[in-house]
Amino acid sequence: MANTSDVIIIGGGIAGTATGYYLAKHRLSVALFEQGHLCSGSTGRCIGGVRQQFTSASSIKLMMRSVELFAGMDQELDTEVHWHPGGYLFLAHDESNKQAFLDNIRVQRAAGLTDVRWVDAAEAKEIVPLLDTAGLLGGSYCPTDGQAYPFAVVNGYAQQIKQLGGSIHPFSEVTGILSQGGRATGIKLANGEEHHAPVVVNCAGPWAKEVGALAGIDVPVEPERHEALITEGVEYLGIPMLVDYRADGGYFQQFRHNGQFIGCYSPSPRVPGRSADSTFEFLAEMPRRMLKLVPALAQVKVIRQWAGSYEMTPDGNPVLDRAELGGFYVLGGMCGHGFMLGPAMGEAMAEFVRSGEKQPPFPEFALRRRFGQAEAMK
Ligand SMILES: Cc1cc2nc3c(=O)[nH]c(=O)nc-3n(C[C@H](O)[C@H](O)[C@H](O)COP(=O)(O)OP(=O)(O)OC[C@H]3O[C@@H](n4cnc5c(N)ncnc54)[C@H](O)[C@@H]3O)c2cc1C
Repeated sequence: MANTSDVIIIGGGIAGTATGYYLAKHRLSVALFEQGHLCSGSTGRCIGGVRQQFTSASSIKLMMRSVELFAGMDQELDTEVHWHPGGYLFLAHDESNKQAFLDNIRVQRAAGLTDVRWVDAAEAKEIVPLLDTAGLLGGSYCPTDGQAYPFAVVNGYAQQIKQLGGSIHPFSEVTGILSQGGRATGIKLANGEEHHAPVVVNCAGPWAKEVGALAGIDVPVEPERHEALITEGVEYLGIPMLVDYRADGGYFQQFRHNGQFIGCYSPSPRVPGRSADSTFEFLAEMPRRMLKLVPALAQVKVIRQWAGSYEMTPDGNPVLDRAELGGFYVLGGMCGHGFMLGPAMGEAMAEFVRSGEKQPPFPEFALRRRFGQAEAMK
């Protein structure tokens, strides 16, 4: 029958394209629908950071797997995704953050992430000679964390879905989920077309709740606005992702492939909703926060700012599960870490779908969990 595939995926960001690719590798026919262009959601608005430093054992292990996948991605996807293990350095300027990082390092090392270690201020300065270490007690450093280029990764996965016989449908908004006898059977598009499959995967990022509602499923994901900016490219200075948890801190890194600095900070108070408006406040404030850490950047010009959504769950952990409606799956709620988690989560989702297992592979990422245990390294 025309318009029929094994799996329909809703969403053309990292979650959808990674899941689609690993399903296609399992020889399932995949049709992916995206309301805009690929990367038009959160993935095209993220800053490309990839870290393994989390506090839930599942996130740490998944991120170690993601790093493996990123490292082999050029070859696997036959394209340059600009993976670079440039490291992440979380900075502690007070005793309570220092203690928290030391505790986290113990958890991370116990989960198998032996690359992470505490560095004192002097060693931090050796790693980042341009770092202003005033008031710095030290930091949590993992040299095998890194960066990749989101557009290249998503396009790489999408190309391979097509190579493997699947189809990608940009500018195709899903407006209905078809079902029969308690099972999903396909989707309806805004133009009235219907497409059929026994499996439908909701990878709609900040829209996961709305897409879930089309199937009568409550998906506990709420969007939250986050702003970012990027500078002109200058020579690569080897600065890892710097994460400053102070009230006027932020996080930024330099892309190795083009020398641009890219960064953001979490607004306080939080800004719920899906607005992608940019503010003058952020444009003035973010460079100040970057210069506080690396004063030498004063001469580097900001060239662009934008905003996008984090997709927040109540406990800061993602959702990877099947829903009450048979054949309807959800991968989302990555809480601002979806680019880095995407490859391993997409691989895990593909295996979950392929296996037909009833129980989700990570109980703490179940759709209907008790949202009690919070991820500390948000
Ligand atoms: C400023 C900022 C910085 C960030 N930095 C990082 C970082 O450094 N590292 C990191 O790992 N993460 C980062 N993130 C978070 C990361 O971008 C997200 O977690 C991730 O991109 C989520 O991917 P996704 O595929 O689930 O969602 P998305 O990329 O949003 O993809 C979902 C897609 O579904 C589509 N869609 C929605 N509804 C429909 C519909 N009805 N029909 C068809 N299509 C639909 C949307 O258009 C969208 O393209 C950042 C986010 C922001 C905003």
